Amino acid sequence: MKIILAAPRGFCAGVNMAIDSLDLTLQKFGPPVYVYHEIVHNQYVVNTFRDKGAVFVNTIDEVPEGSVLLFSAHGVSPQVREAARARNLNALDATCPLVTKVHLEAIKYAKAGYTIILIGHDGHDEVIGTMGEAPEAILLVEDEEDVDKLEVKDESKLAYLTQTTLSVDDANRVIRRLRERFPHIESPPKDDICYATQNRQEAVRILSDDVDVVVVLGSQNSSNSQRLRELAADDGKPAYLIDGPADLSIENFSNASTVLITAGASAPESVVQATIDWLVEHFDATVEVKQIREESVQFPLPKPLRAFAAEVRAK
Ligand code: SF4
Repeated sequence: MKIILAAPRGFCAGVNMAIDSLDLTLQKFGPPVYVYHEIVHNQYVVNTFRDKGAVFVNTIDEVPEGSVLLFSAHGVSPQVREAARARNLNALDATCPLVTKVHLEAIKYAKAGYTIILIGHDGHDEVIGTMGEAPEAILLVEDEEDVDKLEVKDESKLAYLTQTTLSVDDANRVIRRLRERFPHIESPPKDDICYATQNRQEAVRILSDDVDVVVVLGSQNSSNSQRLRELAADDGKPAYLIDGPADLSIENFSNASTVLITAGASAPESVVQATIDWLVEHFDATVEVKQIREESVQFPLPKPLRAFAAEVRAK
């Protein structure tokens, strides 16, 4: 068996920053550190931090007054920030700057009196946070049928935004339909679907043609990982989204001589390596890395952690 190992894959700049933030917060303040929602959507990462003393909560009411709280990479609504203030929490913010960019766009359009069409997945943490910025001005659409059902009061003041982790192809279909229905609809100058989502999808699009099976490392609730699996499946390939090799069986690879491995933006490299080891053990696989694009993006830590991070690094 030959493994084609996609690059780029795995952790993006936002996930790296969020994970470093939680690690440093635990070191600086000691456990427990409360985290609003999963720090990133990955079971391995969440369980590892749980063992170190992170407590993941879904409501601010669950956090004892005066505790240390970290907002996850997916961002939160102003209502959640206010609830944390009211409870006198020491809140730190690990929201990915590319999610914050979408929040700021929503605020800008809402202030200018626009109706905002947000393309995204209902119930996703990021969508809930973005919609909370201007609940009265934002309408959520998931697909083209939703666009057909839209009723807007002023078509001359209409803009669309997207969740950062959508399928580029699906989003383009929805945007096309929006432009057909509302030719004057506006959008921000720069894409909301983030660089990491686009690059990982581009790699699967290019590399999946020449393989028999595609394996995506990532958790079921990870939007960008699900999109990678769908992309491969749409290309007619058996495609598996797994947390690690324990989710695989020998039968998944019957008659497979070439396997593409990639990982969503929240999946650590350790689970990629464990999956490679499993395939080497069972199929005597060899590995070839195929680099489709270089990435060098980095995001700064939340301000309250920067001096402490410098101290830790200097030790
Ligand atoms: Fe930020 Fe994109 Fe990573 Fe999400 S996937 S944390 S938006 S860089």
